[in-house]
Formats: sequence, C-alpha cells, structure tokens
Amino acid sequence: MKLVPRYTDIADNFAIEDQPSSVAAPQLLLWNASLAKQFNIDIEPQLRASTFAGNESLQIKAVALGYSGHQFGHFSPRLGDGRAHLLGAVSDDKNQLWDIQLKGSGATPYSRGGDGRCALGPAIREYIMSEAMHGLGIKTTRCLAVVGTGQVVYRNPPQPGAVVTRLASSHIRVGSFQYLATQGDTEGLKKLADTAIERHYPEINITGPERYLAFLDAVIKNQLDLIISWMRVGFIHGVMNTDNTLVSGETIDYGPCAMMNVFNFDTVFSSIDKQGRYAFGNQPNIASWNCARLAESLIPLINDDDEQAVNLMTPIISQFSMLFNDRYNQMWAQKLGLAGQSENDVELVSKLLLLFQEHKLDYTNTFDALTESLKGESVIPEPLTQWAQLWKSRTDNSSYEIMRAANPRVIPRNHIIETILDEYTNMGTSELLKPFMEVLSDPYFTSKNIAQYQEVPKEDKDYRTFCGT
Ligand code: AMP
Ligand code: MG
Ligand code: MG
Repeated sequence: MKLVPRYTDIADNFAIEDQPSSVAAPQLLLWNASLAKQFNIDIEPQLRASTFAGNESLQIKAVALGYSGHQFGHFSPRLGDGRAHLLGAVSDDKNQLWDIQLKGSGATPYSRGGDGRCALGPAIREYIMSEAMHGLGIKTTRCLAVVGTGQVVYRNPPQPGAVVTRLASSHIRVGSFQYLATQGDTEGLKKLADTAIERHYPEINITGPERYLAFLDAVIKNQLDLIISWMRVGFIHGVMNTDNTLVSGETIDYGPCAMMNVFNFDTVFSSIDKQGRYAFGNQPNIASWNCARLAESLIPLINDDDEQAVNLMTPIISQFSMLFNDRYNQMWAQKLGLAGQSENDVELVSKLLLLFQEHKLDYTNTFDALTESLKGESVIPEPLTQWAQLWKSRTDNSSYEIMRAANPRVIPRNHIIETILDEYTNMGTSELLKPFMEVLSDPYFTSKNIAQYQEVPKEDKDYRTFCGT
C-alpha cells in the first residue's frame, strides 16, 4: 500500500501530525475485499488487523484535520478529528487519490473531553450503511475494514471498541472552509479551495473570483443531486451539520442515520433531533442552508468588499430551490415511470403522497409493488387502486425499466441492522451480515430471493438512533 500525504500544505494548523494509539488485541472483523482490490491495498492477511487498528507504524505521518461546524445550527469554531487519523491517500486505477482514514484510533489534539474511540456497533453500522449506499448507486465514503480493539469503550453500557477504516475522495467539509475563514486565513482558504477544485471539479480551469464562484455552484449542484438520491430511497442522514457535509458530494458520517419505512416527510429517528431539524423532508432546506455557510466562508476569495461578494454569490445560492424543484419532480417522474411530461403530474404525485401518509404505506415496498405491477408480478396496494387508474394511463412500455432503476427492492432496514449490531456486540460476529451485504450490493434488478428482507416491523415510531457513540 503506497500512501501519499495529504492536506499538509494548506495551513500550519490544518493537518496536525498525530499518531493512532495502539490497541490491546486487534481482530479483523470485516474486510472489504473488492474495495481493497480496487485500490491495490495489498496488506498481507495476517497484518491487516494490526495495520487497520493503527498498531503498525506505516512510516508515514498520520494527521488529524481541523474543522469547524454548525451543529444543529450552532457554530463550533474548533471541532476537528477528535477520534480519527488520516493515514494519507491511496491511488485508484485512474490515478485518483483517495483518503484513507482510521476512525476510533485514539485521542488527538482535537479530542476535547472525548476518548478518541468508537464502539463496535456504530462501526458495523457505518460499514453496512456506506456499502449499502454504494450498492444503491449513491455517492458515499466507503468502508475498507472494521477491526475489533479487544478493549472496552466506556459508554452507557460499556461496549467493545472498534476502529473503522474509511476511504473518501476527500475529507474536505463545509466545516473545513469555516475553520480557515474563522481564523481569517485567506491564503489557507485559497489553498483549500484549489485542492478541492483540483480533486473534485477539475473542469473548473478559470482563475480569479470566478473560479471560486464556479466552485460554489458545482458544490451546490452536487449537494442537490445527493439529497435527491437520499430522498429517492428514503435515507435520513440524521446529523447534517456543516462538519458532516463534504464538498465532494459524498455521504459521510453514518452515526444516527436510518431508513424511512412508512412514508412521512416528518420522520426523525435521531434521539437528539428534538426539533426535527434533520427530518426526512427537511433535508433539502438544510443542504441549502449548509451551502450558504460555504458561501459565507468563501467571501474573502470573491471580493475585498463583503457586500459585493454577497451580491455575486446570492444568485448562485438562490438557484438551489429552483433547481431542486426541477430535479425533485424528475425524481418522482422516474419513481413512477411517467412517460413524457404532463401538467397534471405534480398533482398525481401529491395525491399519491397524501395516500401514503393517510394509509401509512411503506415507502420502499409500495414503490416496488407499483413497479412490479406493470409486469403483473405484484398487485397494486388496495388504497392506491383508484389513484393508479390515472397513473397507469401515464405509463408506457419504457416505464418498467425506468421505475426499476429508481426504486430499490431492498434497503438496509433498520431492524435488521439492529439485530446484526446486537449480535456483533454480544458475540463478535453475525451470520446475518454476509447474505445481507450480498443482497444490498444489487438492490434494484436483483433476482435473489428477497422476501425476508422486505418484511417491515408493524411500528417503528419509537425507533431511535444515536450520534457519536
Ligand atoms: P460526529 O458526531 O462523529 O460527527 O463528531 C462530532 C465531533 O465530535 C467531531 O469533532 C468528532 O471528532 C468529535 N467526537 C465524537 N466522538 C468522539 C470521541 N469519542 N472522542 C473524541 N472526539 C469525538
Ligand atoms: Mg494521538
Ligand atoms: Mg462527523
């Protein structure tokens, strides 16, 4: 494995050198062989556990990155990697660099009161969810490995500890820009923006303020696409703070995320999201808000006069809602396989969503049933039969393929994940994991027997998820 250092030239205090702390008894619990192959990560099997626990000295200088963040709307100027170490970057077959980071690898200068560790349950959740999102074709950080540490992490109750290895096209967050902007480090901001542009938006080859306006525009469009794809499959991120928003447009931080079962825009599972700030249907508003925070941070790169900079950025920021509406309508048209466009489509969709809410219909299974009904493989759920008459008249012989590609048959259901996490926590393994991951790797056109993965618990309104455990 050839590692290249990253982010060390942005600013003095941006990437702080810090080594992972060794763990007592590393044990490789999960290994993503296909990802390892893709990135030529050729660590010998007997060395994988100790390497990805952070016990091996890899002859590189690991770093903890600084970043700020608006957490639930409140600004913290200094968050940073409090329990993660960036080892460097590996190169893929197209010579693109990918960050490789350990999470749960011990305290860093950013740990504040935290122990720098991660419990096994959340580590396994990150593995399952990020690989499931990848299977769903949604941009995401990836998981290479989960290593048990052989140490207890003192949570309530105490739990086994683990280290997750994460790959990401970068770890440049909206909060990374906020961090340098807050310190008034314009030179660092420029370096960071240029690094992000080179990595994620190399098509931007202009200079001057236009370069950073184009960057903002590109990030906004990527965020839009990301949120639309989350909404298409019923994903609720749960903690869309600016430190958990990557300018690459990849999904990151799988702490309190969950999948929506019964359709409702107000769905919230995170135990600390009391106001529903990060509810399923509020995700577009928050993404737009987060992009506005990025814009604020970029002001010094646009114009010395704040007001002029804001005037230049406002039209870019305000595109969000217009573009969102277009892409959102497109998403529903795909989920329903609508042929062409009709002025009544918006009403067709809103009637459907009302029926979903009134009859508490499962989001995934209902769209699956509608899809398969076109082939006579499934019946239309009873509450939708009348609505479906109009819908059917809007479909044609291309609808099935379009719907199948937009509507997953299987998603990482919360109750299955919880069972797997419990088994790992109590027994260090789970036989459910491998077949589940196989099904999740091919969720749309699968020919596997998936009936058991489509079962839904009767009630999930009391289901709760937790951040940072
Ligand atoms: P997260 O909830 O993972 O997005 O983390 C938010 C912030 O809290 C980040 O700065 C983390 O590095 C930090 N953090 C979360 N858990 C821990 C922990 N166990 N020890 C130290 N820092 C932590
Ligand atoms: Mg340390
Ligand atoms: Mg985070």
